[in-house]
Amino acid sequence: MLSIKAYAKINLYLDVISRYPNGYHQIESIMQSVSLHDLVEISPAQDLSLSTTSRELSNKDNLAFKAAELLHSATSPKAGAHINITKQIPVAAGLAGGSADAAATLAGLNILWELNLPVEELQQIGERLGADIPFCLAGGTMLAEGRGEKLTKLNPMPKFWIVLVTPPLRISTADVYRLVDEREIAPLYTGTEFLGALESGDITQISAMLKNLLEEVVFPLHPDIEGVKKLAITSGGSGALMSGSGPSVYVICRDEEVANRVANDLRSRDEALFVDIVRPVDKGFEIT
Ligand code: ATP
Repeated sequence: MLSIKAYAKINLYLDVISRYPNGYHQIESIMQSVSLHDLVEISPAQDLSLSTTSRELSNKDNLAFKAAELLHSATSPKAGAHINITKQIPVAAGLAGGSADAAATLAGLNILWELNLPVEELQQIGERLGADIPFCLAGGTMLAEGRGEKLTKLNPMPKFWIVLVTPPLRISTADVYRLVDEREIAPLYTGTEFLGALESGDITQISAMLKNLLEEVVFPLHPDIEGVKKLAITSGGSGALMSGSGPSVYVICRDEEVANRVANDLRSRDEALFVDIVRPVDKGFEIT
């Protein structure tokens, strides 16, 4: 059996540049894998099947199952596989949990079925299911352009302590992008400045340049998310940002002590918040 950690991602920077005629959006984003992960276990079987600790995700719409089906029909291996997913990444939270599971599944099946496909080919298959899957197959610190599938590897971000906070809300990514279009939100165009700050490795500079255009449409709908950000900074976090289309917020902290303080303050404000302290990791998945 293969056991694979499927890491969550955060967006250190997210800009929406334009809308393609096919409805997809041209983005510019800097993405970072973090240590929070689901566990994807893949074992040999005759047919394809999936089980998961999340009842609502135990069906054939699971992105990991869809990825397995796509790879199976593209390569016609003689065997199937059983995929078991232990969910730990909050669902529909802006942390790419579904994409991470799909990426880990593609990587695992590539080994189980002895396909020897290069990662680029797995990324092309993954891209058909979700724009974040190519990133999750690579991981680390990446600039993502186009729909998110054009990836450029960046130097790793400093090993800050990061507090992840997920309010008990589900946000549809499609709805958020629809609002960006309706309200004709102008692009940020501060990606170059962010890259400069990242190169400096300085927590103050990086924190000052953290930007996510989607906050502009999500915060008015869910003022509590902005409240989490403000509290995190008051508690000592150097910088905070909503990840993806939310509702997760992450807080960059100088050291473990500050991260613990921020995490405890957030937990005592609202026990419904999912709070976890994570570190940046340099890969999207890890076969253990
Ligand atoms: P995105 O920004 O890609 O929409 P997200 O990071 O906000 O994603 P995910 O946790 O990936 O959120 O979930 C997005 C949707 O995908 C959910 O509504 C969920 O029902 C569906 N989904 C399918 N498979 C999975 C999976 N293995 N894990 C989590 N969600 C899944």
